[in-house]
Amino acid sequence: MRNPPRVLIVEDESAIAELIAVNLRHNGLSPIWAEDGEAAQREIDSVLPDVILLDWMLPGQSGVSLAKRWRADPRIKGVPIVMLTARSDEGDKVSGLDAGADDYITKPFSTQELLARIRAVLRRRSPEQALDSVSVGELTLDGATYRVSFGGQALKVGPTEFKLLNYLMRHAERVHSRSQLLDKVWGDHVFIEERTVDVHIKRLREALGDAGAMVETVRGAGYRFTSQAVLPTPAAATAGQNASAAA
Ligand code: CA
Repeated sequence: MRNPPRVLIVEDESAIAELIAVNLRHNGLSPIWAEDGEAAQREIDSVLPDVILLDWMLPGQSGVSLAKRWRADPRIKGVPIVMLTARSDEGDKVSGLDAGADDYITKPFSTQELLARIRAVLRRRSPEQALDSVSVGELTLDGATYRVSFGGQALKVGPTEFKLLNYLMRHAERVHSRSQLLDKVWGDHVFIEERTVDVHIKRLREALGDAGAMVETVRGAGYRFTSQAVLPTPAAATAGQNASAAA
C-alpha cells in the first residue's frame, strides 16, 4: 500500500517534537525529527518529506531563514511548510508567511488543529494525495481505501502504480511528459531516470487489464489518461446486463 505521508519535524525542544511525533504516528503519518536546520537539511537531502513542520526559534539558523532557503531550492520548494511558534505576534506571522510558509500555527496548539493544518496543506500542495475517490468512465480509484475497480471489479495495483494512476485520473485528457510525471508523482526524482516512468506505466496497464487502454502513449510527448479509449465492456457490467435480461 501507499506509504504514509512523511512529516519532517524541525524542532529543538525534544519534548515537543516527541509529543508531535507520537500524535502524527497515531494518526497514520510518518514523522521524522530533526533538531536543527543542519539535521533537517540532511533528512531532506536523503528523502524529500511531504510536509515540513518548522519551528520558528531554532539554534543556528532560524525557522524563517530555513523557510526562505528551502523555498528558493527548486527541489524543495514544492514541499509545504507549516511554521510552529510560541509567538502570536501578527508581525511574526506575516514574516513567516512572507518567507514561504504555507501555514502558521501558534504554540500551544491542539493535536486536532495541527492535523487539520497538515491535511489542508497536503491537499492544497499535492492534489495527487487527495483522499477522496475519482472516477473516469467505469474506472474508479478510492484514495481513502487505496482501492481501484473497473466496472465494479477490484483490481490489484501496486503502490507506485496507484500514485501514478491517482495523478493521471485527476488530470485526465492531458498529456504529461515523463519528467512532469516524475515531478508530480515521485516528487523527488533527482536519482530516478525517466525510463522508470515507462516501467511503471507498463505495470499500470497490466494491472488495469481491459482498462489499460485508457493510459495512452503520446509519441514524442509522454502519456495521457483518457476516457475516450475504446474498451471492452467491464465483466461485471456484462454480468449485470445478463442478470437483468434474464430477470
Ligand atoms: Ca524552539
